[in-house]
Amino acid sequence: ASVPAPGSAAAPAAPLPPPGYPIVHPLKDVRLGEAFPSFAAGEGIYVQDTNGKTYIDGISGLWNVSLGYRHPGIRQAIVDQLDRLPYVNPVDGANPTTLAFAETLLRLTPPALAKVAYTCTGSESVELAIKLIRKFHQLSGRPERTLIAVLDKSYHGTYYGSMSASGIDQEISESYGPRVPGFRFHPVPLGDDGKPAVLEGELLERRLAELERLFEEEEGRLGGIILEPIIGSGGILPLPDRYLRRVRELCDRSGALLAFDEVATGMGRTGRMFAFEHSGAAPDILCLSKGINSGYLPLGATLFSDAIYQAFARAGSHIEHLSTQNGNPIACAAGLATVEALERPGLLAEVTRKGELLRRLLEEALAANPMFLETRGKGLMIGVALTSDRSARALLDPDRLREVVARLRQRGLLVYPIHTPGVTTGFHLFPPLIIEDGEIRKIVQIVARSLGGR
Ligand code: PLP
Repeated sequence: ASVPAPGSAAAPAAPLPPPGYPIVHPLKDVRLGEAFPSFAAGEGIYVQDTNGKTYIDGISGLWNVSLGYRHPGIRQAIVDQLDRLPYVNPVDGANPTTLAFAETLLRLTPPALAKVAYTCTGSESVELAIKLIRKFHQLSGRPERTLIAVLDKSYHGTYYGSMSASGIDQEISESYGPRVPGFRFHPVPLGDDGKPAVLEGELLERRLAELERLFEEEEGRLGGIILEPIIGSGGILPLPDRYLRRVRELCDRSGALLAFDEVATGMGRTGRMFAFEHSGAAPDILCLSKGINSGYLPLGATLFSDAIYQAFARAGSHIEHLSTQNGNPIACAAGLATVEALERPGLLAEVTRKGELLRRLLEEALAANPMFLETRGKGLMIGVALTSDRSARALLDPDRLREVVARLRQRGLLVYPIHTPGVTTGFHLFPPLIIEDGEIRKIVQIVARSLGGR
């Protein structure tokens, strides 16, 4: 079954585009084209299509435009850097802006993270994490520790390594030929019925015991584990704080490296600069992209520990990873302006407050709606779970989900569908962090009207 990932809004039934339509859309039937709006302008949380229709961007682009459109500080930083120097060769050159942004990222993260390697995307940040885990053990005299554990509903990207590490859409990635080997897929901690549940007490203990068994079974082979602190594309499934802390303990005990994929959760989205801060479990490797510069230009980063750096340094080795545009100075300038805005006093606390407000108002407005199941998430990373039968927590039929997303769009709200077979259906709400209370109320009104009473 196909699981929508970012970019793969459920396909509306659409007439074939005329043969002149010039692009194919990622993760979409290649015949679909004109069915999608063409966006020409944006301001704050709003975007406008070429027919002049305005939408609330309830998913911040693709979860990345976290400070909204036409942000004056980001725009100015981009223009200034463009005028100074648009590009620098990252192999044997640096630039004050790329250095300053790397220092800023390290200042924002725990001292255990010591170095920054720039990338262009989230997929690429995960590629590098995979390479660092394996090479670290290779350089440390443990070449057999190549196995990497990941969760079976995770999404880490679509490059070969990151696609192979992704738990969702496995049959689809399989159909592109052999996957990159060496990943073990561990079940996402869920209820006994395989659906999202409040994980506490005896249920949580059992999930923790399963995690411990994974480390026991793979002892001596396990090089690391890559996790999203909140599973995003897989359906907004937050991993409990205790679960993350136990992973940290198990990694410390076994010598496996812990990588957090915070491509979606990082840079303020959950009300903290990074989602791992909620749990107190810090990673050895941190993968970032998306909100890193509010999505204005392609940029990602993989931060890693001094222990990893020292392994390379002792061997006089280099990191075999380069894309020409890694750490582009204009993209880094946008990153500096983004962090400046995120660090304004009170902004992150407001993300928490606004996320709670949005969830509370949605829950109140939809309480009597038989299609509404629950909201999940942290800060302004919210999943709205829908059902065809509340008492059975049955998933919504994909056709009905498509209808819901289309109705929301028609009423002027962009959302992103969640369809994780057997687990959850609904849609993501990731509005820009600068959203105002009145705009939150408007979102709730559109959702309530669009879901109707069926
Ligand atoms: N990792 C996570 C958790 C993501 O949500 C995504 C994208 O949605 C990626 C990696 C891939 O990032 P990108 O699309 O920038 O390659």
